[in-house]
Amino acid sequence: MLKEFNISTEKKYELVDITERVERIVQESNIKDGLVLVFVPHSTAGIVLTENESSLKKDWLKVLKKLVSDFDFLHNQVDNNADSHILSGLIGQGKTLIVENGRLIIGTWQQIFLAEFDGPRTRKVIIKII
Ligand code: ZN
Repeated sequence: MLKEFNISTEKKYELVDITERVERIVQESNIKDGLVLVFVPHSTAGIVLTENESSLKKDWLKVLKKLVSDFDFLHNQVDNNADSHILSGLIGQGKTLIVENGRLIIGTWQQIFLAEFDGPRTRKVIIKII
């Protein structure tokens, strides 16, 4: 089963919690046991699992911005978003999770986030359940 939805981001760097939307799609799929791939078909966004706590989200963005802050990027002569591409690749553009008894197996302090690195944009999230 393949589903997709769009997320509109508001900032250049942002973490958007998409856990409930993914859980709803898993429940509506009626697939009891399997794997779900949460994927963004974008090279300047990613998918990350972390706790949805406001300070922690700021900490994540602080670390990620610092990782790409001290470079003279060549790609910036093309479209000025080398930092966004590199963070997307480092974080990864998809995560695979387990579906058991019709539910996503996910920790209490694990939520699924779309990580925006070149917003604001409309991002597509693709969900494949097998
Ligand atoms: Zn680019």
